[in-house]
Amino acid sequence: MLRETLDAAVAEGKTPVEAVEVASERLAALFSGIDDEYLRARADDVKDVCRALRDCLSGYVENPFAGLPGDAVIVSEELFPSDVAAMDLNRVRAFILRKGSLTSHVAIIARSKGIPVLFGVDINSIGDGDRLLVDGYEGILTVRPDEAEEEAFSERAAHQTPAAEEPLLKQDGTPVRIYGNAGSLDDIRATLNAGAEGIGLFRTEFLFMNSDHHPTEEEQFAVYRQAALECGNRPLTIRTLDIGGDKTLTYWELPREENPFLGIRGVRLSLDYPGTLKTQVRAILRAGAFGIVWMMLPMITTCAELRRVKEIVREAESELAAESVPHASGLPVGIMIETPAAVLTAGELARESAFFSIGTNDLIQYVMAADRGNPGVARLYDPMAQAVRKAIEITVAAAGEAGIPVGVCGEMASDTESRKWLASCGVDNISLSSPSLIGSVRGETR
Ligand code: PEP
Ligand code: MG
Repeated sequence: MLRETLDAAVAEGKTPVEAVEVASERLAALFSGIDDEYLRARADDVKDVCRALRDCLSGYVENPFAGLPGDAVIVSEELFPSDVAAMDLNRVRAFILRKGSLTSHVAIIARSKGIPVLFGVDINSIGDGDRLLVDGYEGILTVRPDEAEEEAFSERAAHQTPAAEEPLLKQDGTPVRIYGNAGSLDDIRATLNAGAEGIGLFRTEFLFMNSDHHPTEEEQFAVYRQAALECGNRPLTIRTLDIGGDKTLTYWELPREENPFLGIRGVRLSLDYPGTLKTQVRAILRAGAFGIVWMMLPMITTCAELRRVKEIVREAESELAAESVPHASGLPVGIMIETPAAVLTAGELARESAFFSIGTNDLIQYVMAADRGNPGVARLYDPMAQAVRKAIEITVAAAGEAGIPVGVCGEMASDTESRKWLASCGVDNISLSSPSLIGSVRGETR
């Protein structure tokens, strides 16, 4: 019926967007006139569908999260990082999701803001406006609590604090450096305030996601420079754009992929768009003049990729020098170890990298062939699985042989037992997402 109404309006000479508006009015009027309460209410559904259609046709995307009430608990089947980027997180108290996992980017962003996320929840029993109690430590959700449940919750909340830990030392007694992961300048400040010794992973894609256009060199430079200044004499590791997988940009339409996590993501995308990469590299090199800045490449699979990026870095350096623009020269370029291919060629890669950072969130999924966001394979997605530990040991040994530092910036490092194992295995640093956790670890290591 919608189709026919649209065709008729177009035949009357309306533009497609006008035709949708006409169809919306005509069909909503039709439903509103029906003598049945249920069918009459469908007029709103018609308007909703037409609004979405009109927005698609006109390229307008309304922010569905504008005007969130304070203390909101977001309950959803699934969320993407772009959804979270569109929210005012100061208004969100918790996320309750059916799909996803602790290493999904939604969880990572939420954790960096201290917002609890529960996954695998049957959300059907939750209604709009229900009061919810979310215990992020224990992973307990109480829907429409009674008085006794409210009291028990307050009691638990009053006594929950992160446990203090033993100092994190390598087997030779050297302390493991504790860095922080960040997605914004706010995160950097919070992480440094909590005691981080530097930023081990600055995810630049969130800067891109929070913009409605490709950030220019000047826009990127302003953020990276400020980040370098905030870090002072502590290192700032800026990761080049890691778009792809579950991270998309509204203004950058890329071909749809059957398996986006095995597709054009991270450095692969950057190398397909060398102009975009060069802009980012120039901004990073310029920020290098204001602090201790390292550049890190995500999703490296081959030495050729690393060499090609280093060529672009050299080109950018020559350009900046020719333009007399202040910049860092010889800025350390390191790589993330996230793919089995990188582990198996870690010896070669180590000879050409300034440092390694093991991205266990991805490494685990690729080693175990278990999607990091799929609760159905969570059993296999195990940071301490023998194959994962072996992959880490190979990487640490290769770094040691080449004399370069090796760290871990995946969520594995946020788990107390896992990070003890990482320290014993010989990693030089770990980089954590949670500022409060860093506080507790640092409190003990000092
Ligand atoms: C990782 O894969 O471990 C990592 C830190 O990168 P991201 O979570 O952004 O993919
Ligand atoms: Mg990764």
